Amino acid sequence: MLILVLNAGSSSLKYQLINAETGEVKASGLCERIGIDGVMKHEIAEYRKLVIDHPMPTHKEAIEFMLNILTHDDTQVIASIDEISAIGHRVVHGGEYFKRSTLINKSVIRKIEELIPLAPLHNPAHILGINICQELMPGKPNVAVFDTAFHQTMPEENYLYAVPHEDYTEHHLRKYGFHGTSHFYVSGEAIKMLDKKDTKVIVCHLGNGSSICAVKNGKSVDTTMGLTPLEGLIMGTRSGDIDAGVVPYLMEKKGMDTHHIIDYLNKKSGILGISGISSDLREVIRAANEGDHRSKICIEMLCNRIRKYIASYTAVLGGVDAICFTAGIGENADLIREKVCTGLEFLGVEIDKKKNKIRESTNREINKDSSKVKIYVIPTKEEYVIAQDTYKLVK
Ligand code: ADP
Repeated sequence: MLILVLNAGSSSLKYQLINAETGEVKASGLCERIGIDGVMKHEIAEYRKLVIDHPMPTHKEAIEFMLNILTHDDTQVIASIDEISAIGHRVVHGGEYFKRSTLINKSVIRKIEELIPLAPLHNPAHILGINICQELMPGKPNVAVFDTAFHQTMPEENYLYAVPHEDYTEHHLRKYGFHGTSHFYVSGEAIKMLDKKDTKVIVCHLGNGSSICAVKNGKSVDTTMGLTPLEGLIMGTRSGDIDAGVVPYLMEKKGMDTHHIIDYLNKKSGILGISGISSDLREVIRAANEGDHRSKICIEMLCNRIRKYIASYTAVLGGVDAICFTAGIGENADLIREKVCTGLEFLGVEIDKKKNKIRESTNREINKDSSKVKIYVIPTKEEYVIAQDTYKLVK
């Protein structure tokens, strides 16, 4: 069964056409600069890559163009869109409504709409993507897979903030957590690798956006992102945890308004803000190797924050069987994995520096044989999970 997986952002659209039974990715790509000019990067089953400039004034033209590329001429991978059985949509915020993936109907769309104040950039784009798919591929089932759903198992004491309770009951103010599809997949792979009954797993999803999740017997019990994806780790351009007192201080000192503060903490902080060089960690590592002080400090701060959360989540779980690294940084940056694990020996964490340096794209173990805690590198497969959930619901 062929599933089209869509991730509609405010000016972008990521897609994959996946055979749900075999996991084979028949084609994948990214439309960028929607509403500006439009560029598509399209890949056919990992052997042919194309970059096409094509006007995409709205998401509709982007989706139409993608369907055209999939079905026509020498880029054809399917004879017609009839071969697509269903569409799986990544939806960032499912609030407390959605504890699992769901078939989309009018009431589901209304709820995703209701949650716009909690995800003002993402949820409107998802609704747009869903509406366009319903228009261009009428009659085909659409499924929503939520970033927040996996974390709905968190206990109250972990998701409530220490603020007046009526703001939770009246305004839904609580920790939701994100990257749920990735944490679900990676912890599931780790549980298979551990091959034991009761499991305590810590997943470090380290990409442009980063979060850590404590997973007990397959269920999320705590995670670093909060009401929004700003809380927790130091990220590409996001500050992560910060004293809330910083906000009024900056407003007064620099005359900033809410819009400026949101921009400052989300787009100008993190790796970019500390290093002053880039939000891309590769460039910061390069600069640190050339002696740049701020880049060196940035790497130390990044790793300290991750290490602190691993130790605190070990306390939350009452121990830890495996620490997993995933996403762009987690899968590729051996320096960061080594630095994070160094200093955690008191928990029984012993990294094997040679195994850590080996580059592979499969699941692998990088701890010493004597390590009490397993250390895994597990490439995340969010689109695969979306395709699987869609397949299960449609079948
Ligand atoms: P997104 O959250 O946008 O999906 P990714 O998971 O692709 O992001 O991660 C992007 C991050 O991974 C960037 O900061 C990039 O610098 C980093 N990264 C990728 N490869 C490496 C590497 N070899 N060493 C260090 N950082 C890397």
